[in-house]
Amino acid sequence: MTSTVSAPAVTPAATGPARALVCRGCGTEFPLAAQHACYECFGPLEVAYDPAALARVTRAEIEAGPQNIWRYAGLLPAGQDPATRVSLDPGLTPLISAPALAAAIGLDAPLWVKDDSANPTHSFKDRVVSVALTAARGLGFTRFACASTGNLANSVAAHAARAGVPSIVFIPGDLEQGKIITTAVYGGDLVAIDGSYDDVNRLCSELVETDEFEDTAFVNVNVRPYYAEGSKTLGYEVAEQLGWRIPAQVVIPMASGELLTKIDKAFTELVEIGLVEAPAGGWKVFGAQSAGCNPIATALHGGTDQITPVKPTGIAKSLNIGDPAAGAYAIEAVQRTGGWMDYADDDEIRAAIRLLARTTGVFAETAGGVTVAVLQKLVAAGKLDPTQETVVFNTGEGLKTLDAVAGLVGPTHRIKPSLRGARDAGLLG
Ligand SMILES: *Cc1c(COP(=O)(O)O)cnc(C)c1O
Ligand SMILES: [Zn+2]
Repeated sequence: MTSTVSAPAVTPAATGPARALVCRGCGTEFPLAAQHACYECFGPLEVAYDPAALARVTRAEIEAGPQNIWRYAGLLPAGQDPATRVSLDPGLTPLISAPALAAAIGLDAPLWVKDDSANPTHSFKDRVVSVALTAARGLGFTRFACASTGNLANSVAAHAARAGVPSIVFIPGDLEQGKIITTAVYGGDLVAIDGSYDDVNRLCSELVETDEFEDTAFVNVNVRPYYAEGSKTLGYEVAEQLGWRIPAQVVIPMASGELLTKIDKAFTELVEIGLVEAPAGGWKVFGAQSAGCNPIATALHGGTDQITPVKPTGIAKSLNIGDPAAGAYAIEAVQRTGGWMDYADDDEIRAAIRLLARTTGVFAETAGGVTVAVLQKLVAAGKLDPTQETVVFNTGEGLKTLDAVAGLVGPTHRIKPSLRGARDAGLLG
């Protein structure tokens, strides 16, 4: 990072609880730098914390914090000093009680929808981007980038605009208009690639090694360990919003599988540091994919954690990662907690978007349809206990994927502007 390397080092470690990067494969530790793979075994790296520093965080301190993810700064690898944050201040999104949805799918216990479409760029990606870019700026990077299935591009471009930092985001060329326009409007470079997300990701892994991209933080490549930690805030929030309780069951959409592993990590941390008691019988983690891209669920169903990559198809484009980096770790979390995974086809996804909308007032993007459809399947198959409290995560906004339901909904009546017209249509009895 030639341009800022001589600036005073504001590393994430300077004031935060993060201690090192540790290999998820072999456990080797590395300093808190811009590194994502292990030099020993090429396994992915994860942020490790000083347990004593985490244990100093109190409920009172969190509750007195800002109304966004930074209330959990004491549990994150960056952003302890507000002046260092590169952020749209996402988080504290609604946790919505959903009794009508519960009744419709045969759940006989409290059901909640955690609605992350309420974030500034309307998906959960604002959480991971805020943490990644805050760490990235501390590490001296001067340009922001990502390989995206859509929502990540949207969020990186918006964060860069707010921070006044140049951005370059890479997307598959066949993304929804709603994702392209909501990214391009922020004015950074937007590179559409003639290929799948997995092609985009491979190219970004090559670009990041070039001299020309030396100053560039790819949020989900070279600073991925910090990025991934942002997902923990969804788990913290659910626990806090339930009155410092962990629900018995959670249903989570999967692209790379990272979000699922980090919600589980958040619950584990909260119990370990004594902020929350584990529910009797623990919590169970369930994962949701689409039939067009189901390599993680298929591996679990086949009794293996060896993921066979697929070529994604179908309308749930934000989840279309055919070679999911955290797939094996998602399977581990699901098996350890006694949960399960399943997948839903495009018609089931469309039906679930409409079911969620008419029972809760939440209009989800296709990923939310995937998750609600899989919740239904898990109940029907007896995999998810209908008598236990459950949280289902809606991670994105329906307005970005209008085409999914555009042909299925519209005016229920079309009338002349007169009482006669209303009567003829049966609106006056
Ligand atoms: C990226 C994304 C996910 C899943 O993210 P992973 O951490 O890669 O599993 C879920 N929902 C939406 C809407 C997303 O954009
Ligand atoms: Zn290793």
